[in-house]
Amino acid sequence: MRQLPFKLKSLAGLKWARLQDGVRRSALWILLLALVVTLLGTLVWLAGRYEASQVQSRLERDASETVADVRAGLTRNIQSFQALQSSQRTPASWQLSAGDLLIEHREIMRLEWRSESLEVLAFAGTPYHGAVFERLGRSSAQADVSLACNTARRLSGPAYSASYFMPQADGLGLEFLEMCLPIMAAGRLAGYTVATYALQDVLAEFVGKQLGRGQSVSFTEADGTRLAMYGMRSRGSRVYVAQQLLDLPGNTLVLRLESRQGTPAFFPNLLTALVTAMSLALLAVLFLLARDMRRRLKVEHDLGEALAFRKAMEDSVLTGLRARDLDGRITYVNPAFCQMVGVDAKDLLNHSFPSPYWPPELAETYQQRQAIRLAENALPREGHESVFMRPDGTRFPVLIMEAPLINAVGKHTGWMSAILDVSEQRRVEELSRASQDRLQATARLAMIGEMASLLSHELNQPLAAISSYATGSLNLLKHQAVGKGAAPELLPITMSANHLASDMQLAMGRIAEQAERAGRVIRSVHDFVRRRDQSREAVQPRALLEAVMPLVGLQARKLSVTVVIEVDPACAAVLCDRTMVEQVLLNLSRNGMQAMHLEHSGSGRVARILTLRVRPGRSIEASGWVEFAVIDRGEGISAEVGAQLFTPFFTTKLEGMGLGLSLCRTVIEQHGGRLGFEAAQPRGTIFSFTLPVALPTGKH
Ligand code: ADP
Repeated sequence: MRQLPFKLKSLAGLKWARLQDGVRRSALWILLLALVVTLLGTLVWLAGRYEASQVQSRLERDASETVADVRAGLTRNIQSFQALQSSQRTPASWQLSAGDLLIEHREIMRLEWRSESLEVLAFAGTPYHGAVFERLGRSSAQADVSLACNTARRLSGPAYSASYFMPQADGLGLEFLEMCLPIMAAGRLAGYTVATYALQDVLAEFVGKQLGRGQSVSFTEADGTRLAMYGMRSRGSRVYVAQQLLDLPGNTLVLRLESRQGTPAFFPNLLTALVTAMSLALLAVLFLLARDMRRRLKVEHDLGEALAFRKAMEDSVLTGLRARDLDGRITYVNPAFCQMVGVDAKDLLNHSFPSPYWPPELAETYQQRQAIRLAENALPREGHESVFMRPDGTRFPVLIMEAPLINAVGKHTGWMSAILDVSEQRRVEELSRASQDRLQATARLAMIGEMASLLSHELNQPLAAISSYATGSLNLLKHQAVGKGAAPELLPITMSANHLASDMQLAMGRIAEQAERAGRVIRSVHDFVRRRDQSREAVQPRALLEAVMPLVGLQARKLSVTVVIEVDPACAAVLCDRTMVEQVLLNLSRNGMQAMHLEHSGSGRVARILTLRVRPGRSIEASGWVEFAVIDRGEGISAEVGAQLFTPFFTTKLEGMGLGLSLCRTVIEQHGGRLGFEAAQPRGTIFSFTLPVALPTGKH
C-alpha cells in the first residue's frame, strides 16, 4: 500500500503561527489586566478623594456656621449689655443686674462699668470661676482694655481687644478677650461697659451643643497657635480641618474646626467600599473570563489539530471525494477528485448540473439519472459505474459510491460520493480477457494432442486383436491350402478341417467386432476429450466384464494367465460411459497380467491368476456405489513407483506409454468415483474403482 503523504510541514507552520498567536494573546491579557487594575485603583482613589472632599466641604460649612453662631452669640450679648446700661443708673443696681447676667452667660468672666476715663465704677465676676485676675491682678489687662475702648469710642460701637493669656490660681491659665461697649447718653460718651470673655467658654457656650462626636473647635492665631479649645483633641491621620476667620471689630480670630472620621478604616466609607467591591467582582469576572477563554482556546486548539489532521487525510487520500447539497450543487471536492477530472476546485464548487466533467453526449442521461436517484433518496451501497471526461476530452470509467450526508443534528443535508478511477482496473481486465482467449486457444491445441495420444494408446488393443485374428485366419487358409492340419500355439482358434468354415466365420466376426470397437473407442475418446457426458447409461456390472472378456481372454491366453470373475449378485446396475469404463477394465487387466508375466521366481512359478471382482460399496459413504477390483499376483508396486503411478507418461515398461492409469483415473473421477490401489495378500496389487449405482428409473 502506498504511504499517505501527510502534510507535516504545514502542520509545523501551523504550530508556529499558533505559538505567535498565543504570545500575542497573553500580552493582550496582561495589558487588559494592568489597565483594569489601574482603572480600579484610580476609581477607588477618586472615590476616596471624593468622599474626603465631601467631608471637607461639610466641615467647612460647619465651620462657617460655627463662626456665625459665635458671632450671633456675641451680638446677643452686646444687646444684653446695652439693656443693662440703659436700665441701671446706679452702681449697686447695675452690679445686681450684671450678676444676673453673668449667671446666664457662663462665657463672660467679668463685667465692668467704667467711666469715660476707664475707671471702674462697678464690676461683677462670674460665679462659675474663682477670681480670674487673682494672680496677676486686673491691672495687667488694663492695656488691652484701653485699646479696646479706644477703638470702641472711635467706632461708636462695641470693640474687642486682642486675646491674652491669664494664668490662674490652679496653675493653669485661660485665654481672655476684652469687649468694650461705649455708653452713650444724650449723644455723648458717658462711660464703657467692659466684658471679659474666656475664649474657651465662648466656644463651650455658643458652639458646644452643636458639636458632634469626634469634633473639636478651637480659636487659633493666624500663625496656628492654639488659644482655646473645646471638645476632644483629634489625633491620627484621618483628621479633617476647616478654618474660618471670626472678624470682630478690633480683633480677628481664626476658628478651627477639627473632625475625625471614625476609627481608621481600610475603606473610607460606603462609596469607596462599593467601588472596591465592584472592582473585586470585576476582577473575579475577568479571572473567570480568562479561565473560560483558556478552555475555549484548548478546545479550539484541539479542534484545529483534528481539522488539520482531517484536511491532511482528505488531501492525501487517493479516492476522489465530492459532496453535493440537496439541489445537486457541489459543496466540496478533495484534491484527488480535482486531479482526476482535471478541473480546479473553484470551478467545481457551487456548480450544478450538468457537471463540467460529464461527457456532453451522456449529459442528458446523467441528468435524468441524477434526478431519479436524488428523488428516490435510497442509493445502492455498492455504487455504480459511470464515465467522466477530462477537459482534454479523454473519457475514463469511474466507480461512484454515494451516501446521504447527515449533519450533527441528524438532518439530511446532501450527498457524499467517493469516486474511484477504474481505468487501470479495466485495462487489466482487458488484458486478462485477451490472455484468457489465448489460453483457451492453447488449451484446444493441447486437447488435440491429448486426443491423439489417447487414440494411439486405446487403439492399440483392438488393432492388435484384429491383427491377431487376421494372422490366425491367414494361417488357417494357408494350412487348408497345403492340406495338412497343424496346431501352432500362437493360433487363438482351435483348428480342425471340419470346422474351418465356422472358425473363419468366427475369426472374421471377431475382426469385425474389434474394428467396430476401435470405431467406438475413437468416438468415445473424442467425446471424452470434449468432456461430453451424454453417453452415460445404466449397465449391469457383469455386462461390463463380459464385454471386455474376449480381449482379456485373448491376452490371458497369450500370457498364460487364468482369469477369475467374481460378481456379487447384489450389485445393482451402474451409471457410466460404457466404452470408457470397459477401457478402464481392459487397462487395469492388461497391467495386472503384464505384472504377472514379468514375474519369475527362483522357487518355481507362481500361479498367474487375475481376479476381476465386483461387489457393492462396503463403507457407509460408499453405499450407492459399486466397487470394481482387478487383483493380480504380480510383483506389487514399490513406494517409488507408487508415488508417480498416475503421472502421465510415467512407465517402467519398454513399450509402455505411461498413459493408461492417468486415463483410468480421469475416467473414473469424471463419473464421480475414485480409483486407488493397495497391496494384495500374499502378493500382488489390487486396483479398485467405484462407480455410482444407476437410479431406479435408469434400471432396465
Ligand atoms: P503403461 O502400462 O503404458 O506403462 P500405465 O499408466 O498403465 O502405463 O502404468 C504405469 C506403470 O505402473 C507401469 O509401467 C507399471 O510399472 C506400473 N503398474 C501398473 N499396474 C501395475 C500392476 N498391476 N502391478 C505392478 N505395476 C503396475
